Amino acid sequence: MTTLNSELEHAVSGALHDRLTELDRQITESETGQEPWTSRAGEAPDAGDASVADHLQTKERSLEQQAVDQRNRVIDALQRLKTGDYGECVDCGTEILVDRLQAQPEVERCLRCQQAFEANHASAGAGSSL
Ligand SMILES: [Zn+2]
Repeated sequence: MTTLNSELEHAVSGALHDRLTELDRQITESETGQEPWTSRAGEAPDAGDASVADHLQTKERSLEQQAVDQRNRVIDALQRLKTGDYGECVDCGTEILVDRLQAQPEVERCLRCQQAFEANHASAGAGSSL
């Protein structure tokens, strides 16, 4: 259990709900705003057009994926708020600094674990090609 006071809990809950609304809007827009590139490019596109269009679609898709991932983190944080686990690092269980929670309400790790997590992720990505 954390010593989250009700004022902070209220602020964080509001911020998380705002983010959820914003992310929902982004995701919906990117889903409804997409049409098959072939309908923009015409009936007989050459291979060059196709690869550019594929590249653009991949980029759009990854932005959408980021929004979906972030939305999942926001939902997780709201869940932790309900269960009383909010504000604790998911890795080490230490209380996360209030400043950090206010800046990034969906954060799930303390600064130290987040840095370790990102370092692991970066080196895992770089090392996997060897
Ligand atoms: Zn930690």
